[in-house]
Amino acid sequence: MPRRIGLVFAHPDDETFCVGGIVAKYAAAGVKIDLFCATDGDAGKSAGVPVSSREELARIRREETGAAAAILGIETIEFGGYRDGEVEQVDPTKLIGDIVAFLRRHRPEVVIGFGPEGAPTGHRDHKAMSRATIAAFFLAALDSAYADDGLRAHAAARLYFHAWRFPLPDPKLKLESVASTCSVDVRDFRDRKEAAFKAHATQQGSAHAFYGAALVDEEQLAFAAGVPQPRAMVDDPFAGL
Ligand SMILES: [Zn+2]
Repeated sequence: MPRRIGLVFAHPDDETFCVGGIVAKYAAAGVKIDLFCATDGDAGKSAGVPVSSREELARIRREETGAAAAILGIETIEFGGYRDGEVEQVDPTKLIGDIVAFLRRHRPEVVIGFGPEGAPTGHRDHKAMSRATIAAFFLAALDSAYADDGLRAHAAARLYFHAWRFPLPDPKLKLESVASTCSVDVRDFRDRKEAAFKAHATQQGSAHAFYGAALVDEEQLAFAAGVPQPRAMVDDPFAGL
């Protein structure tokens, strides 16, 4: 059985900004990686790409995510279909259930999602996704939770939050993450991460944030739940599993 990582994020491009290097590195090593993306990013900017409606932007951003995923080595993408900017307002029972179903279908050992602060931007969709992912990580393992979804319970081994070294070079990004417990050397995968960012053509207005804060030599994760790490700081989210 290949090792598996499940990514749970809010918007097209979160996968690239947060953990594009880790994804590229582990996919290259044969790890199967699946992505749940709650929204189509239909409230985002379009950086000069002509877009006439939210629906058209949603379609373009889905395509961009597919292109970025192919570059990074993500095997499948599941879109939740929630509206960009409104994840906090949706019924949490349904959102958590969608993530539970995603985890039960793809059965990852390691789950990576947002920390409670909502990434350096503190976007409210990110914070809502963090809460839902924490709940889903535990509930996916219990037969009695979402028992009618027709899927077998799945206990993933570990939940990690996306994390970063603080302070970030961009002084506008003031939020600190949960303290990193896993620092992954992704130097050899910077090119791939950059190519994935460029595949998100509508998001090139965020280039300063990408090059200033996201394109790093070592990406950080913070242990959140599951099987304890063998050491306080590791360089591999599968360490000891
Ligand atoms: Zn986002």
